[in-house]
Amino acid sequence: MRDAPRVVSVLERATGTVSWGEMTTITAQNVLYPLQDDIGSVALVQHVGDDKSVVNAARVSFGGDNDAPLTERDEKLIKYLLREQHGSPFEHNLLTFKIVCPIFVDRQMVRHRVGVSKNEISGRYVEVGERVYVPRSFRRQAKSNRQASVADEAGEIDQQGAALVWQEAWQLAYAAYQRLLDLGVTREQARGVLPQAMYTESYYTFNLRSLLHFLALRDHPGAQFETQLYARALAELAEPLFPVTFRAWRELHSEMPH
Ligand SMILES: Cc1cc2nc3c(=O)[nH]c(=O)nc-3n(C[C@H](O)[C@H](O)[C@H](O)COP(=O)(O)OP(=O)(O)OC[C@H]3O[C@@H](n4cnc5c(N)ncnc54)[C@H](O)[C@@H]3O)c2cc1C
Repeated sequence: MRDAPRVVSVLERATGTVSWGEMTTITAQNVLYPLQDDIGSVALVQHVGDDKSVVNAARVSFGGDNDAPLTERDEKLIKYLLREQHGSPFEHNLLTFKIVCPIFVDRQMVRHRVGVSKNEISGRYVEVGERVYVPRSFRRQAKSNRQASVADEAGEIDQQGAALVWQEAWQLAYAAYQRLLDLGVTREQARGVLPQAMYTESYYTFNLRSLLHFLALRDHPGAQFETQLYARALAELAEPLFPVTFRAWRELHSEMPH
């Protein structure tokens, strides 16, 4: 497992180990590029809590919360909570990410309504930048699953032709957007001609329970491939912060039918 990203914990902040200013520093270490194009990114901005806070939230029912290091018994408790779907002890831990993703990925992310907070850049206030997702390769529709896609291993797609169509389409649309702005049309209307592959950026805060639910649904073969890549990036950044919870969750998850 890779080292935990350098993210400032609440404890460090409270004990004065670091200044408040460091709280939201996004370093190269805690940014991932799921689409490998140097635009689409997931950055861990901050987090609250650790595996022990899950245990403490559960044990407070018996007045048993404590400051001691995590024990084997605690680890078993985390697995028990996940298995029995006692979800609330996982809701006290928060993770904030800055996510730069294509609009079509973001449309899927916003469907996750519970335990997820979001603030997004506004195309009404800011001119939409010339940032568009261009797939590295084009996939075919899966035959077995109507919503899934498969790699074009047989080479049936004219990859260069598809890339050209994609490029022409977004460049035409973006030029139309610029022309509308030049004609004096307001940003909130002009953006209507832009494609779903344009990038948008948001702060997303998940609690640990809602993040695991998101990962179960979106890091899954049935989910849109690009969204799967974002889900994996979120998991990669979150896992070192909650290693026991993730290990138990992955064990239980692998036992469940997909
Ligand atoms: C592979 C895939 C394909 C999809 N395809 C489509 C599609 O074609 N069209 C489409 O519209 N959506 C689609 N979705 C979105 C999907 O229907 C969910 O909206 C999305 O995955 C969020 O899941 P959720 O509701 O469990 O999460 P959340 O909204 O975060 O809710 C978490 C949990 O809270 C509970 N809950 C939330 N709201 C309510 C409520 N109103 N009443 C009762 N309980 C509630 C449920 O237990 C729910 O699981 C798809 C999702 C996936 C993963």
